[in-house]
Amino acid sequence: MCYCQDCRAFARWLGTPDITDAYGGTDIVQVAPSSVTFSAGSSRLRSMRLSPKGLLRWYSDCCRVPMGNMVSVGLPFVGMARARLGDVPSSVIGPPIGINGRSAIGGMPPGAVARAPLGMIVHVVPLIFGWWLRGRGRPSPYFTAEGVPLVVPQVLTAEEHAPLYARA
Ligand SMILES: [Zn+2]
Repeated sequence: MCYCQDCRAFARWLGTPDITDAYGGTDIVQVAPSSVTFSAGSSRLRSMRLSPKGLLRWYSDCCRVPMGNMVSVGLPFVGMARARLGDVPSSVIGPPIGINGRSAIGGMPPGAVARAPLGMIVHVVPLIFGWWLRGRGRPSPYFTAEGVPLVVPQVLTAEEHAPLYARA
């Protein structure tokens, strides 16, 4: 569960505030790129960055569904918005960890921590390393076999960026 302003800005930009909770947090499930397939509609896939160095954020341009956040093709790690994944039981993915709580709307959410806890980093780094070792970055539904993004990401201008970060 990420309460950072970037995830919230992305939901605002998509026009889908319902993917965030009452504190403005986005529930995100972390998966390897090779675990993701799109069975239909790949031609509607688009990508954007909130700023020139921001995460690569994929979405569909028809129904504005977030389709995965990532750092780059080289890092085999995708964050999928749980709100659009259907019924994903917590027994499969574990309990949510609230991070970046200091950026939440209306104060620190219950159980959240100010930033990313060490326990989460200790969990995520070996996960990424294991996926990297096992080649789980490919095939990726976001990139060609040569690692080129399927579509050129739209990078928001400063004028487009600023209103998305206004305090709600
Ligand atoms: Zn975030």
